[in-house]
Amino acid sequence: MTHTTYLGFPRIGRRRELKRALETYWQDGNASALLDTARALRQRHWQLAREAGMQTVAVNDFSLYDHVLDTAVMFDAVPERYRSLLQDDPLAGYFAMARGNRNLHALEMTKWFDTNYHYIVPELHAGQRFQLNANKPLAEWREAGALGLNARPVVLGPVSFLLLSKTTDGSDALNLLDALLPAYVELLAQLAQAGVDWIQLDEPCLVQDLDETARLAYVAAYETLAQGASPKRLLASYFGGLGDNLALAANLPVDGLHVDLVRAPEQLDAVLSALPAQRVLSAGVVDGRNIWRSQPTQVVTLLQKIAAARGTENLWLAPSCSLLHAPYDVAQETSLPAELRHWLAFAKQKLEELKLYAQALDGDEGAKHALSDQSARLAARRLADGVQRKDVRARVRALSPQATQRRSSLAHRRKVQAEVLALPPLPTTTIGSFPQTETLRHARAEHRAERIDGDAYESVLREEIERVIRFQENIGLDVLVHGEPERNDMVEYFGEQLDGFAFTRHGWVQSYGSRCVKPPIIWGDVSRPQPMTVSWTRYAQSLTDRPVKGMLTGPVTVLQWSFVRDDLPRDQVCLQLALALRDEVHDLESAGIRVIQIDEPALREGLPIRRADHAAYLEWAVRCFRITAGGTGDATQIHTHMCYSEFNDIIEAVAALDADVISIESSRSRMELLQAFEDFRYPGSIGPGVYDIHSPRVPSKTEMIDLLQRALTVLEPGQLWVNPDCGLKTRGWKETEPALVAMVQAAQSLRATL
Ligand code: GLN
Ligand code: ZN
Repeated sequence: MTHTTYLGFPRIGRRRELKRALETYWQDGNASALLDTARALRQRHWQLAREAGMQTVAVNDFSLYDHVLDTAVMFDAVPERYRSLLQDDPLAGYFAMARGNRNLHALEMTKWFDTNYHYIVPELHAGQRFQLNANKPLAEWREAGALGLNARPVVLGPVSFLLLSKTTDGSDALNLLDALLPAYVELLAQLAQAGVDWIQLDEPCLVQDLDETARLAYVAAYETLAQGASPKRLLASYFGGLGDNLALAANLPVDGLHVDLVRAPEQLDAVLSALPAQRVLSAGVVDGRNIWRSQPTQVVTLLQKIAAARGTENLWLAPSCSLLHAPYDVAQETSLPAELRHWLAFAKQKLEELKLYAQALDGDEGAKHALSDQSARLAARRLADGVQRKDVRARVRALSPQATQRRSSLAHRRKVQAEVLALPPLPTTTIGSFPQTETLRHARAEHRAERIDGDAYESVLREEIERVIRFQENIGLDVLVHGEPERNDMVEYFGEQLDGFAFTRHGWVQSYGSRCVKPPIIWGDVSRPQPMTVSWTRYAQSLTDRPVKGMLTGPVTVLQWSFVRDDLPRDQVCLQLALALRDEVHDLESAGIRVIQIDEPALREGLPIRRADHAAYLEWAVRCFRITAGGTGDATQIHTHMCYSEFNDIIEAVAALDADVISIESSRSRMELLQAFEDFRYPGSIGPGVYDIHSPRVPSKTEMIDLLQRALTVLEPGQLWVNPDCGLKTRGWKETEPALVAMVQAAQSLRATL
């Protein structure tokens, strides 16, 4: 029978049990409770996979925080500063690397390819030594074995590991390959010794543009790994086509190759001719990145082609990539309309789909029937109410180039705004959200459960807004925010008020560590029936003379952080969003709001993996942002915010957004991003984050002055804003208060020296 498997499963749990366990451990330090929960989750997920029909389960795909960090720890690629803690208390050391503690700042964190998952960036240096500790993969493999399961350890491959790392001394991480390989060889030997049959080596970097050095590194690495004792090796590529790396990947001495046939179905012919017949082809035919049921006709066509070319003997069926990026089980979504639910497949359903495809391929009539039912349901989807709306389509078609324009140039607007807003030099602000307190969460839950009415809920929010406004006034911030207490999530909040969106109750996906997001589902054409943020912002502004910044999530980010319909091109969905948000911007402006921030933290992560596709994406993404901000008056100051520090490759697009002020994450990388601004004279103002909100650590005033001084070596004083890295909703007041007080003091001290 055709083999069925998967590259990885969501870790967080059906009801986010891992999140709860982590957060409890961070409070009470009870390690055994955390480890028990982790073990129970792994076992439950393997059982589920087996019941869904998987013949092999993945192990070591689980992580307490992040699998890249696990890989660094497994090979002892640990920066000196964490070593003694890691020795004394391995869990405390591990979490110090992941999220910092009172004395140590965390390792950098960055987006995992074009997903909304964040990985911890290993920090390496020339002369780095590596040493294997294979306990984790071995223990998890034994755990699965004890349950009678056929298990395949998943490990990040050596070349992707190095390519995804950074070095502190500017050396090329790939130079460390020779030092690293013996540890991988040893890993394979230990796994083989234990009796492991197959290992999955993830090399997602194979779908990127690779230079000659990286290609040679692949050859050297995999030839070395082929020499010692080893389980059979499955080389896994995902998130796109192998493209010009196909010949490289197909010729590496491994026993199987996984290819993504969802993102890149067009690569199938080339894969079939490049891959030797005795190798296993693991065909990623079900989308691991989305929540839609697959189209049986498309998948069956691919599978028949494969079967005709090479039979099914060496064929594995799998989702396109790890299911880490999909929610758990759509059966939990009892409050979704039944019609919509039939269009959806979460992790569990994706595995069940795979089984059906395998059975159908093996000639099972029942499975063929089930698949044709699925085709019929998906055909009905096209005609369902709200999927295609004439008014929305007409408005998009009628868009003129004018819609992307502000009234005057940035330079002129800057003068007008300086007069209207009269801010001091180095103005201080925050990114929008303030701590989501227990009171707020409780009130929201009560309101959802209809245990308190709308008025009672609203008065809790108003009180919170007032408290946040008074706090900001007291500590001397210049541009205030209302604190976003009404928002559960920066995308969900907007999606809930727009037509064309649906919401799950339990559709959580891990973003980083214990943090999850619950992406809305864009299933139909998008429009805004009424204003979404105006009353809260207007209320906040009524409490103070200082400018209150209106807060919106930008169209690209709403798109990027939603599960997007698969029946309309992304740029078209984004244009619909841009028009809906544009109406909101204009309503805020009419309500007297002078500063409006349109967050686009996901602009960069939407960047296609291959450089050849960048320009087309940036073109429509920038256009959508500009449509959102377009048409506002010169006195209205448009801010945008982005949470990443890799700027060089998109700086021109960021400038093309034509925002008056951008705030960006930069404290973890100690303002490295500002290098981008050395060569490129950015015309607007910039607030490079001066402290890391992902860590509970309270930064000192001197430390922030130091960062600001670094920033001033590249930026004009008139250009520099002072703000944290990101919103404060995940922080407590305990650390937020002293951190912001110190931040304002840092700005004030520096101001005095200008
Ligand atoms: N305004 C949002 C907040 O402060 C921005 C969040 C983000 O960039 N991820 O929460
Ligand atoms: Zn941010």
